[in-house]
Amino acid sequence: MPSIRDNTIVLRRLDYSETSQVLVFFGQDRGKVRAIAKGIKRSTKTRHSGAIDLLDAGEVVFSVRSTTQEALAQVTEWKQTRSFSGLREQIPRLYGAQYCAEIVASMTADWDPHPDLYEALLEALTIFNTAAVVLPGIVQFQRQLLQSTGMYPEVRHCVGCGRDPVPGEPLHFTSHQGGILCRDCEPRFVEKRLINPAEPAVLSGRRQGGPIWDAFETFDYHISHLIGRRPSVSEALRSLRNTQ
Ligand SMILES: [Zn+2]
Repeated sequence: MPSIRDNTIVLRRLDYSETSQVLVFFGQDRGKVRAIAKGIKRSTKTRHSGAIDLLDAGEVVFSVRSTTQEALAQVTEWKQTRSFSGLREQIPRLYGAQYCAEIVASMTADWDPHPDLYEALLEALTIFNTAAVVLPGIVQFQRQLLQSTGMYPEVRHCVGCGRDPVPGEPLHFTSHQGGILCRDCEPRFVEKRLINPAEPAVLSGRRQGGPIWDAFETFDYHISHLIGRRPSVSEALRSLRNTQ
């Protein structure tokens, strides 16, 4: 069976039996890989003593039968390279990291490489690991994910008529059409949500600060539509609204 080596981040973890785990890795070169880990050869050079954990970063060797959606790869070697232990010291950091991992797992296909997104996730986890406030980093990551997967919405011009939004007028966002709607076009669309008129500058990254929670909600709304459900960590993040 061919072997594949990749630098990875653990997006999901499921204990499969006393000795085995089913893991979803996000690899720098290979994208998302589902694999079963049993009888791992652990490096003695790392501080790693137990099982592979969620949000760990490490070098993996996979034994691969076929690169199809159905087939599980097998982890034959695991060397942890980063642990991000600071994430577990503060709830907002952990939720932020879990949210980013969840939306990557939901928005990418198996064996579909997104090296830019791998770098973005590694950077986000590095920042969250010591951050006091994580929300701006989450919104930035939502933007990077949507750009990397080709699902970034049009937030500068109305997707109905192409015009720039008029300051002071109500603004809507539609996930189905993929962008903002002006007051004149909005009545023609069923699926939409009213957004803060100051949001487009935050969504596009042109402006730091501003209505960052509103921007999070709009990207989360869009991502929820694209994957067909709310990310499970969204609600937990929302409970932190007064602290972030
Ligand atoms: Zn319009």
